[in-house]
Amino acid sequence: MLPLTFPLHRQILLKRRIWSSCCRRLAAMSSLLIHQPHYSWLKELGLTEDNDGVYNGTWGGRGEVVTSYCPANNLPIARVRQATLEEYNETVIKAKEAWQVWADVPAPKRGEIVRQIGDALRKKISVLGHLVSLEMGKILVEGVGEVQEYVDICDYAVGLSRIVGGPILPSERPGHALIEQWNPVGLVGIITAFNFPVAVYGWNNALALICGDVCLWKGAPTTSLTSVAVTKIIAQVLEDNNLPGAICSLTCGGADIGNAIAKDESVDLVSFTGSTNVGKQVALKVQERFGRNLLELGGNNAIIVFEDADLNLVTPSVLFAAVGTAGQRCTTARRLFLHESIHDDIVQKLSKAYAQVRIGDPWESDTLCGPLHTKQSVEMFLSAIEQAKCEGGTVVCGGKIIDRSGNFVEPTIMTGLAHDSPIVHKETFAPILYIIKFKTEAEAFAWNNEVKQGLSSSIFTKDLGRIFRWLGPKGSDCGIVNVNIPTSGAEIGGAFGGEKHTGGGRESGSDSWKHYMRRSTW
Ligand code: NAD
Repeated sequence: MLPLTFPLHRQILLKRRIWSSCCRRLAAMSSLLIHQPHYSWLKELGLTEDNDGVYNGTWGGRGEVVTSYCPANNLPIARVRQATLEEYNETVIKAKEAWQVWADVPAPKRGEIVRQIGDALRKKISVLGHLVSLEMGKILVEGVGEVQEYVDICDYAVGLSRIVGGPILPSERPGHALIEQWNPVGLVGIITAFNFPVAVYGWNNALALICGDVCLWKGAPTTSLTSVAVTKIIAQVLEDNNLPGAICSLTCGGADIGNAIAKDESVDLVSFTGSTNVGKQVALKVQERFGRNLLELGGNNAIIVFEDADLNLVTPSVLFAAVGTAGQRCTTARRLFLHESIHDDIVQKLSKAYAQVRIGDPWESDTLCGPLHTKQSVEMFLSAIEQAKCEGGTVVCGGKIIDRSGNFVEPTIMTGLAHDSPIVHKETFAPILYIIKFKTEAEAFAWNNEVKQGLSSSIFTKDLGRIFRWLGPKGSDCGIVNVNIPTSGAEIGGAFGGEKHTGGGRESGSDSWKHYMRRSTW
C-alpha cells in the first residue's frame, strides 16, 4: 500500500508502472523457450527458467543474470546466474580442499569415476546433443557427436588411468634407482569457447581427473546452459560416490572470471580454448606469474588440391570442411589452393554443391548448415565479405544474409584474391572459403605455411613422394597434417592442437596427459 499522503495522480502513475513491469516480467517468463511444451525435454537436464551458474559442491550464482538465446530464432531459452569474483574465490578454496581428497584416490579408482561420468553422459547423449544444437546452433548430429567425443575421451582416460607413469632409467650411481615420477599439477582452470561447449571441456576434464587434478570450468557466457547441464551430470556422479562436488567446479562468467583464472596463482594450469587475441592476453597473464598454460587458439586452415588428386573426393571433402558447423570450427577450411589446371572445374563443381546445401533449423534432420552463433557473428561475416571485395575478391556464390529470423548467412565462395591478402590471412569465424590458383608444389606449401596460425591442413594428391614431402620438415607446419581427407574433425586417440599463433598446446590423446601433471626425477 502506498501512503495516503502520496498525491493521487502519482499513486496512479506508480501503480501503472508496477503493473506494466509485472506484465513485462510475465511476458518475458512466458516467452522463454523452456516454458513451451516443445522444449520440455530441457527439464530432463535439470534446467529451469533461472539456473545457478556456480557449482562447488553446492549451487549458487550471485552475479549478472545472463539469458541464453537460440541462434536459429534469437528467442530466449532460459537464464543463468553468473559467478561474482567473490564466488570465484570461494570456489577456488573449495576446489583446493577437494584436491586433498581426490589426489589420494588411486589413479585406477579415479578412472572408475571417469567411467561413470562417461556412462552418465551416454544416458543423456540425445537430450544434451539437442541442447547444444539449440543453444550453440550447430546441427543436431554435430551436437550429439560432440557429447560422443566426451564419452570417447572418458573411455580413453579410463584405460590411461592404469598406464600413466614415468620410466625407471639406468643410473650411473651404483645401487641407485633413477626414476621419473608424475604427480598431478593440482587445480586446472578450464576456459572454453562457444563453438564446442561440451567436447573441449570433456577433453580437459577426463584427462585432468585421471591425472589426479581437480577442475574449475568457465565456459562461454552464451552457452552457459550447456555448462550447467554438463556440470549437473558430473555432480550427480560425484555425489553418488560420496566425493566432494568441487572436484569439478563451475563458475559461469565472462572476461572477468576468465581474467581471474589467468591471474590466479592458485590455478596450477590454465587450459584456454578460444581466439588468438584473447588467448594471447591470457597467456601473458599466466606467464607473468610463471604459471603453466595449455593454449588451443584460432586456425586458418588450407586444403591444397593437386592435378593428380582423386577429384571425386574433393567436392564433398571441401564442402564438409568449409560449410560444416556453419564455418565455426577451429579446423574449418578457409583457404582452398587449386592447381591452375583444375581450378575452374572444381570451382564449378563446388558452386553446384553449395547451391544444394540445406540451410535451416539445426535440429531438423535434413539441415546441413545451421545459423551463426550470434548477431555479432553475422556482422563479422558481412564485414569480411566487404573487405574481401575491396581487396579484389569476387563472390562466386553466397555472400548474403538470409532473410528469416535467426543468424543465418549463405555459405560463400570467393575467388580472385591474392594468397597474401589481409582478409585471406584472417580467421573469420563464418562459412567463407577463399579459392586461390597455384602453379607449383613449392608455392602451395609455402602459402599453406605463410599465415600466422598453424592448426590444420590437407593435401589431395596420389603422388607418394609429395605426400612424404608434405609430412616432412619442409611440408606443412601445422599441428594437424592431413592427406586426402579434409581439415576438420579430430580423433581423440591423437594429440590435437596447433603451432604458432594457434598456441602450441596439445589436448586429447597420445601423451597430452603430460600437460596435466608435473614430473619429478629421483
Ligand atoms: P573467445 O576468445 O572470444 O572466447 C573464449 C573464452 O575466453 C570464452 O569463455 C570467453 O568468455 C573467455 N574470455 C573472453 N575474454 C577473456 C579475457 N580477457 N580473459 C580470459 N578469458 C576471456 O573465443 P570464441 O569466440 O568463444 O571462440 C572462437 C575461437 O576459438 C576461434 O578463434 C576458434 O578458432 C577458437 N577455437 C580453437 C580451438 C582449438 O582447439 N584450437 C577449438 C575451439 C575454438
